[in-house]
Amino acid sequence: MDILQILTSFFPSGSSEQAAVKDDKKVQAICDILRSYPVTARSENMKSGIDQVYKGVPEEGMSTEEVVAHIINSISPGLAAGQSGPRYFGFVTGGALPAAQCGDILATIYDQNVQVHLPNESISTAVEWRTLEMVLDLLDLPRDLFGGRSLTGGATASNILGIACGRDYAVQRALNDATYSVADNGMPSGVRIRVLTDRHHASIEKATAIVGIGRKNVVDLSATSKGLSTPFVNRLESALQVYHGQAIESGEKVGFIVVVSFAEVNTGDFTDMEGVKRLCDKYSAWLHIDAAFGALACLLPEYSNVSGYLKDADSITADGHKTFNTPYASGIFFTRSASALTAIMAGSTIPAYLAAPPSTSQDALDPTASWLSSIPSPLHTNLDNSRRFIALPLYSSILHMGRKGYHDLMERNVLFAREIAEWMSNGDGSQWYECLNLRDMDPRGERITPISARGIQDFRTVPLNVVLFRARNVDNVPVSYRRSTSDEQAKQDVLATIMLIKDINATKRMFVSPGAYPGGAIRIAVSNWMTGLNDSGTDLECVKEVLQEVMTGATEP
Ligand SMILES: *Cc1c(COP(=O)(O)O)cnc(C)c1O
Repeated sequence: MDILQILTSFFPSGSSEQAAVKDDKKVQAICDILRSYPVTARSENMKSGIDQVYKGVPEEGMSTEEVVAHIINSISPGLAAGQSGPRYFGFVTGGALPAAQCGDILATIYDQNVQVHLPNESISTAVEWRTLEMVLDLLDLPRDLFGGRSLTGGATASNILGIACGRDYAVQRALNDATYSVADNGMPSGVRIRVLTDRHHASIEKATAIVGIGRKNVVDLSATSKGLSTPFVNRLESALQVYHGQAIESGEKVGFIVVVSFAEVNTGDFTDMEGVKRLCDKYSAWLHIDAAFGALACLLPEYSNVSGYLKDADSITADGHKTFNTPYASGIFFTRSASALTAIMAGSTIPAYLAAPPSTSQDALDPTASWLSSIPSPLHTNLDNSRRFIALPLYSSILHMGRKGYHDLMERNVLFAREIAEWMSNGDGSQWYECLNLRDMDPRGERITPISARGIQDFRTVPLNVVLFRARNVDNVPVSYRRSTSDEQAKQDVLATIMLIKDINATKRMFVSPGAYPGGAIRIAVSNWMTGLNDSGTDLECVKEVLQEVMTGATEP
């Protein structure tokens, strides 16, 4: 209720006293509340919440006040209120900046259906278009190169768009027929698409399942016998050669999509992209880069050697509801091929009432502004027809943060992760924990200046904002968290890690989720705007305290 009150006070009420209250005081108040919430709901609150959830449709409706009171008194105590706070480190969830929350609430109030571009009726589609251009600017991607753009429900939806565009492209190359449309005609017989990846997110497989490529055609090249010890480009080249050769032998035709992560979800690793674009050109492969949580690394000069490769992509996924810290339902998609995107999403049979009016309309707000008349209707560039004004919260957060605000947020998150990694590898934490994703900072092997103030030259740390770790197998660590030493008991190892995760999360002072690693691991993903913000080290101290307490059995003083 407190946060709700503060948020609503952001909206001008007409009283001059209210306008005089400084916004940063309100933001500070929100920070204080979120920092003190338990990160997940208490079990007694969940139980009473479940008991009070209505089990059927009430015959007589309730008043608006009654509904709101029910939600606030009965439902909200059972929600993970602190999930949007500074120490929820599960999954890469980001948070919701107050400015973005206000934008989101306003989007709800105005309830625009951002479906068809109606330049004489609403500027909502124009705001979306400008918002997408500002995201391109933040990622240092030329606006004119990425003419295909859309906001989506999330990175999964964006990956579906990318894989769908790649599907049509790959089939056209395999058939040697640039006019063939899978969207119109279906998959032609005798053509197979191989999706070659470097540690893809699970949503890539979902995308291939939906667009008719099939999960079994997704090949993670890090899982091959050559593993990560060989540069990605070499593994990719061998795979392309092998599949190309097989196709010639069998008479089947093959097309390729290459998918790399711009920051891999489990470790924060960036794929070494050296030479990848050249190979994609040689084998006519579509290059999709999944930058769902790494995108804003582009703002840190330290990552300039990897971010330069983003513009090689044919399509790019980013996520507003992760490091951009907008509320959920904020996915971002770009492609160089605007026509590929609209050919799939619009097709040739558009119902008249969904078609945009003639773009040369005499009434257009500013007839000289050709950008206004050329904006495609959002329903022709994404999965949804009707959808909410998801640009507004993203637009609000970009205006609030500016380039500098996002730079600082990203830097703060990366430094926070590095501090934890440092504590686990060289500090007090090393008596109980080991960090599993330490890297030399430059994925191409050239050392670059780390943003850490510590000035250590020989710098090994985590690649971005994720710490992957586990308990060490030493006497200091309680037996229940230790790994077995014999192979027969190896499956117990994952259970030991799950037990540790459960105990960390039971403190409700921080939240972590499992990571993928042989024998099990834990992942801390730092992506919230508040983490480490003006807190004189409180969040970091809290993390260290919790991780120490579970090992020593000591409780908070
Ligand atoms: C989170 C994530 C996704 C999926 O994003 P949603 O917003 O949950 O749909 C896809 N790829 C990567 C790399 C991610 O980190």
